[in-house]
Amino acid sequence: MNPTLEREVRTIYADAERDIAQAGPVCNLSGRCCRFKEYGHTLFISNLEAEILLQNAPPSGRPASEEGCPFQQGKLCTVREHRPLGCRIYFCDPAYQETGQAISEKYIRQLKALAGRYGVPWRYAPLHAFLNHELETGL
Ligand code: SF4
Repeated sequence: MNPTLEREVRTIYADAERDIAQAGPVCNLSGRCCRFKEYGHTLFISNLEAEILLQNAPPSGRPASEEGCPFQQGKLCTVREHRPLGCRIYFCDPAYQETGQAISEKYIRQLKALAGRYGVPWRYAPLHAFLNHELETGL
């Protein structure tokens, strides 16, 4: 990925994290945010986030599926510095759901605009779709 584009994506991550810190959702370290199917949610990411994630991720050792994230070990994320926006924004705290949704929409819009400015095609799909594509194509 173009290093300037990557810096801009990471700036968006940092800005989102400031909004999240301000909202102050509660995390009780259940690890449920990364066990998608069990808790009824899907992690959608964009191609910009997928590229940063996959260029920095260790081999997952687990197949990619809708069940859960292959980068989760126990309750820990093995790609924490490089995790996509949805991982940063999602908290299961019931009091935060509406705010989390608004933060998510705000920063996904920014990522999409960034892709447009750099002339990069925009793709938004579940995490496992990107991981499987990488396995199939070696990209
Ligand atoms: S990338 Fe990390 S935070 Fe995101 S779902 Fe996977 S293990 Fe969880």
